[in-house]
Amino acid sequence: MNMNSDSNDSDISTNLHLTRVSKLVDTWCGCHGLLYADSQLKDQNVYTWRAAPLSLLPLPYPYKAYKFVKDLQPIINKLIDKLSRDKDFLVDTLNVIAKTDDFTNRLLQIYEEVDDTVIRESVQLGLHRSDYMLNSDGDYEKPLQIEMNTIASSFGCLSNKVTSMHKYILERLNKDNIAWDVAKQQLEYPFNSAAITSESVPDNLSTRMLAFGIAMAHLVFGDNQAIVLFVVQPGERNVADQRLLAEELWNSHNIRTEFITLSEVTSKCHVDTNKVLQYKIDEDSRHDQKVSVVYYRAGYGPSDYPSNTEWNARKIIELSSAIKCPSIGYQLAGTKKVQQVLCEDNILERYLNPIESQLLRECFAAQFSLGSMATSQSLEAMKNAISDGSKWVLKPQREGGGNNYYGKELSNFLNDHKTDPTLSEYILMQRIFPKIKNSIFLRNGNIDILPSINELGIYGTFLGDGSENPLVNTYSGYLLRTKPYGVDEGGVATGYSVLNSIALLDKVDEIVEYELDDEEIEMGISKS
Ligand code: ADP
Ligand code: MG
Repeated sequence: MNMNSDSNDSDISTNLHLTRVSKLVDTWCGCHGLLYADSQLKDQNVYTWRAAPLSLLPLPYPYKAYKFVKDLQPIINKLIDKLSRDKDFLVDTLNVIAKTDDFTNRLLQIYEEVDDTVIRESVQLGLHRSDYMLNSDGDYEKPLQIEMNTIASSFGCLSNKVTSMHKYILERLNKDNIAWDVAKQQLEYPFNSAAITSESVPDNLSTRMLAFGIAMAHLVFGDNQAIVLFVVQPGERNVADQRLLAEELWNSHNIRTEFITLSEVTSKCHVDTNKVLQYKIDEDSRHDQKVSVVYYRAGYGPSDYPSNTEWNARKIIELSSAIKCPSIGYQLAGTKKVQQVLCEDNILERYLNPIESQLLRECFAAQFSLGSMATSQSLEAMKNAISDGSKWVLKPQREGGGNNYYGKELSNFLNDHKTDPTLSEYILMQRIFPKIKNSIFLRNGNIDILPSINELGIYGTFLGDGSENPLVNTYSGYLLRTKPYGVDEGGVATGYSVLNSIALLDKVDEIVEYELDDEEIEMGISKS
């Protein structure tokens, strides 16, 4: 690791100048809501906050790769919508898994209770995030998709703040040569170039665009007295990210929100005779509020459903007239299994035109089915993964991090479960190997300079009714997460990864061309 030659201090984490800059960042976070709620709440109703885990500086990112995945997002949005409305495909694809996985089974059961016409024609809102790593092949870095998130895609609002923080800190550093030099010495990539300025960090409109999607859905629902219901987890720490979205809905669209957990739904909500979801403000039913949109930041994993109460809640909402973000169809379309099946021949072409299919396939890493659904190719891949797990990732049908197998553990697991029918629940994926790059991590007041790898998330907003002309289908901002090299899973909530943003050094002039102006946001149109 490089040492700062201007400092007598041999430990860079306590370097005077970096500490000075990190304090600036910390106070910026406090002033602007770039915060995480502490795990220890002082009391039930009062949060204590700390700055979200961050990278001090943005990551130089190849413009071409960014533009490619950004332009793919409307295609992905459209694909998810079409998949969610293809009942035969989803049921056929997930039935085998449902036999042994209760979680998938229960989602599928509710999905099958929804009227066929509703599945085909109802208005659906998607606030998705498609994640990528740059697979490194010599000097060439190619974005490959890690996964598509169709439920509770988080960090939209915090990522927006991170971008603003990075623009601010770059402006400060450009007037603070000593601190800038110390920071640059820790980073091998082109930080020595003068090109890195606040303008090289592309604007990130995620908060506005995600709120815009919800506001458009609310408009389509057609009752401006209605509220938007956020379904959240009890004890959530990523509170600011959620509340900032609610703030934006209020400030820009005059839309009120209420927050509720899945376990509270059955006591606080009911569906009236017109299938309208009603939210109880108090004991007087005349005060009940209609719900236009239900936005889930919970419900993506089995731990969100400790009892039948939560499953009932999900069903009540799904069968109501509220616009669900996401519908269960969207959630099922985002499963790991569906993503693996999309890699098979001639599946994408059912939903996308040949050019769109070809473009999307460009970012697919190899994925294989297992267990009773194994093909000769997957058996070959499995053999390979058993003898050397380092080039593979084994994924169950789970979301939210911490569920995958890697390396030796993966080989052992596959070997032990070769003949187990539950192996069908897993998919085997080619491991993506990004270049390792140093980053300056700011976590809980500590500074660490760590070799790390990066995952870019692209947000997308979709609102449509199954017809060929969606009301909204657009790219909606980005998120970069940076995790220390050697950590398989990562995760910002778990304290490993940090939030980051990108700096486009190679084609600064074109960045502006791809920003949305206010008028376009109003119209829900993206230039890309
Ligand atoms: P989850 O739904 O739990 O977020 P992911 O598919 O995103 O599941 O996997 C979790 C993490 O594991 C990712 O954020 C990434 O760091 C790592 N990961 C997943 N797939 C791959 C892959 N093919 N190659 C390298 N790392 C991967
Ligand atoms: Mg993920």
